[in-house]
This record gives sequence, structure tokens and C-alpha cells, in this order.
Amino acid sequence: MRLCVERAREIGFCFGVKRALDILEKAVGEHGKVETLGALVHNEQVLKKLQKAGINVALNVADIKGNVAAISSHGVSPEIEDEIRRRNIEIIDTTCPCVRRAQIAAQRLVKAGFFVIIFGDTGHPEVKGILGWAKGKSLATREVESVLEAKGSSRRLGILSQTTQIPEQFTGFVKGIIDFALTKDAEIRIIDTICPDIRRRQRTALDLANKVDLMLVIGGHNSANTRHLAELCAAVRPAYLIEKADELEPSWFHGCQKVGIASGTSTPEETIEEVLARLEEL
Ligand code: SF4
Repeated sequence: MRLCVERAREIGFCFGVKRALDILEKAVGEHGKVETLGALVHNEQVLKKLQKAGINVALNVADIKGNVAAISSHGVSPEIEDEIRRRNIEIIDTTCPCVRRAQIAAQRLVKAGFFVIIFGDTGHPEVKGILGWAKGKSLATREVESVLEAKGSSRRLGILSQTTQIPEQFTGFVKGIIDFALTKDAEIRIIDTICPDIRRRQRTALDLANKVDLMLVIGGHNSANTRHLAELCAAVRPAYLIEKADELEPSWFHGCQKVGIASGTSTPEETIEEVLARLEEL
């Protein structure tokens, strides 16, 4: 039986990734080679392509060999920016405007006397950057309990989110903190810093998942937003996260008529086309 395949309406690169790639392309044209501090995006195919174009990854500031370095769309802390400048390295800033908004929100909250709570994955570069903008008066977690146990927090709490988190989970987290904090004479300020592209992408992927037998979510295995998308879809249908077409297993499609396709924000159109071509063969 022939599989019917439908793509989610919001698919492929997001605005922030497209913008970062455009800035880098221009920088390579001007400077020849450019290094990015950390991976520009969490997608192996994109990184290989960038390497061919003369854009390499430096794992940390000490690792930068040239005199031009790009900050990824995930952004960095002000301390890292200063460290790069101290080495007289020119900065090409590709920080996504949505991430910048979260950094500025954290900075303003701290200046106004709030202890900042970031709903996010502690090890993610974006979250590390936002923590830096909150000057140490902050905590990143996805667990309400960690907030209750946090040392150094004040009665004034400012809550924001990593841009790529699932909105419903952020809401649940905020409710948990409100329940606890309002028994302690607290003042709470909540800033919704979830990216609008992520909201649309999650909503359209979920709509599609509800109409099909199986969902394929294409993107980097280490991409936070791709994993969140797969997690959402898996709540309503069998869902597989794949990075490349050759990861598809024919056994997944037994008894399946309709397949939905969604992608993370750093998944190139070519990879999506390769998956569609492989599905044709199946
Ligand atoms: S997912 Fe959103 S926040 Fe992240 S780079 Fe794309 S547009 Fe920016």
C-alpha cells in the first residue's frame, strides 16, 4: 500500500537560523574564514556544509585561532563577549533576536531587584548565556522543587523561559511556583520568552500528529527544539526523531497509511527532501 505523506505547515529553518546563516555567509565573503564559538546550530548536516564553506567551530574562546569569531544564534554571556574582545578578536554576532530579548529581560529583572528563574535545560548554551546576563542572581531549572530549595533567592522572583521550551510545560512550572511563592509574601514577574516560531511549529506539528498514523520529526539528535517537538507528537501518536533519511526503518510503517513530517528549526530543506524520497522508495 502506498504511504500518504503530509508535511507540517511550519517546517525547515526558522527565522533565527536563516538570519544567522545569512550573516555568516556575508562574513565569509568579507573575511575569508570565520570560526563560530560553539556549534552555530545543533545539526550535523548544516555544520558539515558550513565547514566546506570555510566556517569552523571553536569549542571555547581559547580555541579561536583567527581574528574573527561568530557568536551562535544561541547567544553568549557578557563575560564571554568581553573575553573575546580582550583577545582583539572581531565579533560577528548572530544571536537570534528572540534569544536577545530573553537576555535583556533577565538583565532588567536583576537590575529591578528580582531573582531570575529560567525554565530551561541547564547545560544548553542559550540558557548558560541568559544566566550570564542575570549576573549570578539566577537559577536555571525545569523543576519547581529546585526553586523552593534555591539559596540566595529573594521574595521578588522573575520567571522566564528558554526560547524553545514547550509552552504548556512552562505554564505548569509557573503555576507551581505561584502556589509556593504566594504563601511567602512574594512578588512575581513572569515574562513569556518562548519563541513565536517554536509555538507555531509545535502547534502545527501537533495538529498534524492528530490526523496521521505516525509522525517523523526530522532534526539533530542533540537539538533541544527537535526533541521537544518529538516529545509533543509522541504524546498523541507513535513518533520517531531522525536526523537523516538512512535512519528510517521499514518496520515502523507496517499497517500505517498516513505519515506526518515535522522538523526542528535547524533542519535544512535538502534533508527533508531526502527523507521524502526515501519514503517514496519504501
Ligand atoms: S527557534 Fe526561535 S529563538 Fe531559536 S533561533 Fe529560531 S527563531 Fe530564534
